[in-house]
Amino acid sequence: MAQFLSTSPVAVEQILNSISLGLILVDAEQHVCLWNGWVERHSGVAAGQALGRHISEVFEELPSRAILNAISNTLNYGLPVVLSNALHRSPLPLFERSEQDDEKKRIHQSITITPLNADNGSRLCLIQVSDSSTSIKREKILRTHSEALKREATTDSLTGIYNRRFFDEHYKIALGHAVRHNVPLSIFMLDIDFFKEYNDSYGHVAGDKALILVAAALRKQLLRATDVLARFGGEEFILMLPNMAPELAMDFAEKLRRAVWDLNIPHINSRIGDRVSISIGFSNFYKHPEVDQHMLLKCADAALYEAKKSGRNQSHYLPLQNFHVPLASSTASTNIQDQGLLKQEVGPV
Ligand code: GH3
Ligand code: MG
Ligand code: MG
Repeated sequence: MAQFLSTSPVAVEQILNSISLGLILVDAEQHVCLWNGWVERHSGVAAGQALGRHISEVFEELPSRAILNAISNTLNYGLPVVLSNALHRSPLPLFERSEQDDEKKRIHQSITITPLNADNGSRLCLIQVSDSSTSIKREKILRTHSEALKREATTDSLTGIYNRRFFDEHYKIALGHAVRHNVPLSIFMLDIDFFKEYNDSYGHVAGDKALILVAAALRKQLLRATDVLARFGGEEFILMLPNMAPELAMDFAEKLRRAVWDLNIPHINSRIGDRVSISIGFSNFYKHPEVDQHMLLKCADAALYEAKKSGRNQSHYLPLQNFHVPLASSTASTNIQDQGLLKQEVGPV
């Protein structure tokens, strides 16, 4: 409990006027009996004008209905009230006055209303107002920062599409969903053909530009919000399409391959054409009895290996039920680690 050695009214007045908190005290008739310096400054109403007047008439504008009701309730029932800043941004007409542009900005407020007992036994109501604008601003900045960080953590910085980390997380979720709900999930692995030669011919910077163009062309082919395109690593991309009917997957793969071909990025040392091309391997999970989460990826990777082996610039489909995990993993993608699934037979669909 606060105690004074000497009860100097001047000292008390100075304290009340120098704290950075608005203090208003109203009596049982809702007439103002304390109006501190903070409230004076932010309401534009001097204490001399405010004292003795009804709380609803003292401001330039009418206070919100919520705060008037809260004051009545506190006086009638003796209950404290906190006006949540989330619901009541600015119940009292209080302003931040900027000296530079002479502009008034309404203050966001946190308000606590507390019942007090007067010496004569009647009830008083203390209204404490604090400026929550700064904390709201700080919260907004923090939220923006954390959204930006989240975006950066899941985005490939060169191409702007999702990164491997995002893919890994969402692939697990999508496969779980496909298993539980008996819906298809298609995986497409894409690899730029002879990209080492491209870098050797045109330089690494031109290689980066080609990667950006290829990623953008692939992104344009996405059909639904749930489709995920990610950079799997280096010059490899991966696409995950939930709910795609298996019989449509080949047409879609060809659409992807064509989109890159039509970019017409010259590649004099490609050995298979005059421009940059991609090879695609894809597979599909649908009502498969048992699926290891790596199996579908390995299957699509094996399909990509076949597409490379058969001449590149083409799409190859390998059904999951026909897939036997090879003893030596494919050379087309170096990113999939062997999870020890050697020569595992997969049952029929
Ligand atoms: P293949 O047709 O068999 O796929 O041959 P490839 O040359 O594309 O494959 P390889 O794995 O031999 O080479 C991949 C090349 O991709 C080598 C590497 O320098 C290049 N690469 C990987 N990441 C980047 C990148 O971020 N920027 C650039 N410019 N090049 C990259
Ligand atoms: Mg390649
Ligand atoms: Mg590669």
